[in-house]
Amino acid sequence: MDHKHLRVALNDGHSIPVLGFGTSIPSKYLWLHHQLPKSKALEATKLAIDAGFRHFDCAYCYQNEEEVGLAIRSKIADGIVKREEIFYTSKPGENLLPKDDHGKLLCDTVDLCDTWAAMEKCKDAGLAKSIGVSNFNRRQLEMILNKPGLKYKPVCNQVECHPYLNQRKLLDFCKSKDIVLVAYSALGTSRDKLWVDASSPVLLEDPVLCALAKKHQRSSAQIALRYQLQRGVVVLAHSVTEKRIRENMQVFEFQLTSEDMKSLDGLNRNFRYNTADYFDGHPSHPFSDEY
Ligand code: NAP
Repeated sequence: MDHKHLRVALNDGHSIPVLGFGTSIPSKYLWLHHQLPKSKALEATKLAIDAGFRHFDCAYCYQNEEEVGLAIRSKIADGIVKREEIFYTSKPGENLLPKDDHGKLLCDTVDLCDTWAAMEKCKDAGLAKSIGVSNFNRRQLEMILNKPGLKYKPVCNQVECHPYLNQRKLLDFCKSKDIVLVAYSALGTSRDKLWVDASSPVLLEDPVLCALAKKHQRSSAQIALRYQLQRGVVVLAHSVTEKRIRENMQVFEFQLTSEDMKSLDGLNRNFRYNTADYFDGHPSHPFSDEY
């Protein structure tokens, strides 16, 4: 069996590769040259396809969907991959976080159930094969699941998830509803100064992760990714570095023992890297303490 292309079933009959490639490019590249993030995304996506990634996580707000699309197209044209092998996630949007004169995020009140009904229409119109949500807590998921006239359940909920924020309760809830939890920032983020506190702990330097890496002769990044796969989480990994992109694909070649998994579970401290302070005061703040 070709483990590189291992997929899990979604509740709508489709399937998703268990390991995905994150395409959001850190803002540090913006300082170098305005266009660089875009060309980085194109280059990294091509490298990821060559390495074996078949699941790509993108979004309107990453401002590089065109480049990611061009990279996929070029690999299809080269005969490296077929379109039907690619799982592409987009997160639609119109405005990039509109702000007032004081830099405060301009919030609007939207009924998430109405938005979900619009997503269902997109699926019916063939614009998306599967529809899911991101950064939803249990209450918000329940709101959709209990929506009168619900046509399709969300197939997934993409949330921050790593050994310091293992989302155990949300994961159990998602599993009980046949919703796949997709982990982002599984490697502890790119530590982008725009989103992440520079004094936050560096996940990949954690002593427990490093000890397990030594034990298995793997990297701490591989341990962090493998951890998610073994607990039934679909996991995203972002990198712009060829060696690391390849390394992240090699997580199907080893297994963590149940003892290893227990020590990784023990690292949980409900620590969130993506604090998204700009959401403060929002009535549906996704990162409140409730799970
Ligand atoms: P991440 O995957 O947690 O971490 C990326 C960082 O890890 C980069 O600095 C990368 O360095 C480094 N890295 C990658 N592989 C490594 C390895 N083998 N060894 C050592 N370091 C390694 O980053 P993330 O961007 O926070 O999350 C991943 C994806 O999740 C994003 O790209 C995006 O698609 C998605 N996401 C979604 C949301 C949401 O709200 N839905 C929010 C955040 C992220 P180099 O690049 O320098 O190699």
